[in-house]
Amino acid sequence: MNMQIITTIREMQQACRALKSTRTLGLVPTMGALHDGHLSLVHRALAECDVVAASIFVNPTQFAAGEDFEVYPRTFEEDCEKLEAAGVALLFAPSAEEMYPDGARTFVEVAALGDRLDGASRPGHFRGVATVVSKLFNIVGPDRAYFGQKDAAQVAVLRAMVRDLNIPVHLVACPIVRERDGLAMSSRNRNLSAEDRRRALILHRALVVAQEIVQTGESSAETLRGAMLNIFAADPTVRVDYAAIVDPATLLPVADTSRGALIAVAAWVGSTRLIDNVLLEMHPDESRPTGDLRPDPALMEAPHA
Ligand code: AMP
Repeated sequence: MNMQIITTIREMQQACRALKSTRTLGLVPTMGALHDGHLSLVHRALAECDVVAASIFVNPTQFAAGEDFEVYPRTFEEDCEKLEAAGVALLFAPSAEEMYPDGARTFVEVAALGDRLDGASRPGHFRGVATVVSKLFNIVGPDRAYFGQKDAAQVAVLRAMVRDLNIPVHLVACPIVRERDGLAMSSRNRNLSAEDRRRALILHRALVVAQEIVQTGESSAETLRGAMLNIFAADPTVRVDYAAIVDPATLLPVADTSRGALIAVAAWVGSTRLIDNVLLEMHPDESRPTGDLRPDPALMEAPHA
């Protein structure tokens, strides 16, 4: 079936209203430059909903002055091919003027949570994210919306927003999809030089070391944080933004990981800021919380190039 590409809010609202009368609708919001991480959200949505809509919008209000809005990768034609091949029925791809005809005036702000982790180093970022996602929810009216655990703080902020504002949508957080060598897939990886791409692996390495230490029975957040900072110290060209061990819902630091925690890192590699994390969760047959840092299983099965 052909994917319909819609650029106006009015048409998108009409198309979604018509679809929703008889079917469940899933939404996958993105900023484009799509990779297998985005497509994993689409596949999950297709498995759980009758119809799936995606959006591509590089949202200016979530970038502060001096951030990478201008150089954010844009690959619209390729993205459309990938979404259509995956089975997306509707793509919403508005212009900034369509989304903010009166300029940026009304905002959704998730107090406190929105100032933690990435919100601390990117003031106003989560205000922009919460605002655009609530606009997308109002335009599409999805039954379910799919987000990546890669942006763990974003998931916490949006869950709080949906709860606080009684938005009738079910949020689904999907696991991080990684390259074969462990690097978390990100549109921003396209902006890395070959040398920086190699350096970028340090984020994953720090998380692997932290997780290995947890497996030995260590649960002190301070110890884990120290070990991660040691890893980062090996490459002074990479500037750590944060290496944090927090409660995944409140994003506040925890002292001990024995009942689970989010271990999250952000670092500047060259002029690109990358993030990654591992969610340590208690599983029924394990005595310690564990996380998953493995590459995309599909990549592992693929023959080596
Ligand atoms: P973005 O286009 O970067 O705004 O991402 C759109 C959605 O895809 C967000 O919910 C991200 O968390 C999610 N996403 C991005 N990278 C990955 C990844 N490597 N694995 C899983 N989800 C991802």
